[in-house]
Amino acid sequence: MSKRIPVIAANWKMYKTKDEALAFIFAVNEKVPARTEVESIICAPSILLNLLVKREGENLRIGAQNMHYLDEGAYTGENSPLQVKSAGAEYILIGHSERRSYYNETDETVNLKMVAAFKHELTPILCVGEVLSERESGATKAVLDQQLEKAFLNISAEQALNTIIAYEPVWAIGTGKTATPQMANETIKDVRAKVAALYGNEVADGIRILYGGSVKPDNIKVLLEESDIDGALIGGAALDPNNFLVFTEAA
Ligand code: PGA
Repeated sequence: MSKRIPVIAANWKMYKTKDEALAFIFAVNEKVPARTEVESIICAPSILLNLLVKREGENLRIGAQNMHYLDEGAYTGENSPLQVKSAGAEYILIGHSERRSYYNETDETVNLKMVAAFKHELTPILCVGEVLSERESGATKAVLDQQLEKAFLNISAEQALNTIIAYEPVWAIGTGKTATPQMANETIKDVRAKVAALYGNEVADGIRILYGGSVKPDNIKVLLEESDIDGALIGGAALDPNNFLVFTEAA
């Protein structure tokens, strides 16, 4: 692992009721490693944010999974950055592939959400990744370059340094197919190189870049051993509190 503080972020997606969320947080609260060693984050459904924030132990942090980019407005069913912030969340997932494919999120809306996140002092976890046909046709680098260029429009170097990037090959999400650690690392090196091209080496050396896509207790270690993988964004496997602790301890 590098000098960068590792990040383990659980993405609960549309799982867990209030009682299940409480059971999870009480199971992990006292056991997660110190936040100076690893940043342990739960990205929860918006309706559970405040409940979790009120009970989070000192080493746990809470994030949202999505928000609108406007401060307020007539958008039935949406949550604004102000609301996410006032619920006490510190992080916001932006541009997850499920949002991009099921809710028509584009690189442009991703960028507007990035700008809104910094306006409201939320730390973005920016998700990027290629679909299988793009990987197979050799377009991965071009696709990621474009997603990154657009996401970081109007974002300062200091803000970029405070962004967490999650590289998630779409073909590996929820499919049980993990990119090999070497493949993930090579792609993450390309992502870091793109950050260097946009902001210089200092930002590229400091920014945390996670891998996501079918991370499990039995592959977390080999992934984190790679030079450029600074942590993981984990869906299915992180719904289990014991697994979550395995992930945070591995980091
Ligand atoms: P998965 O999901 O770990 O279930 O593949 C990852 C994600 O969607 O962030």
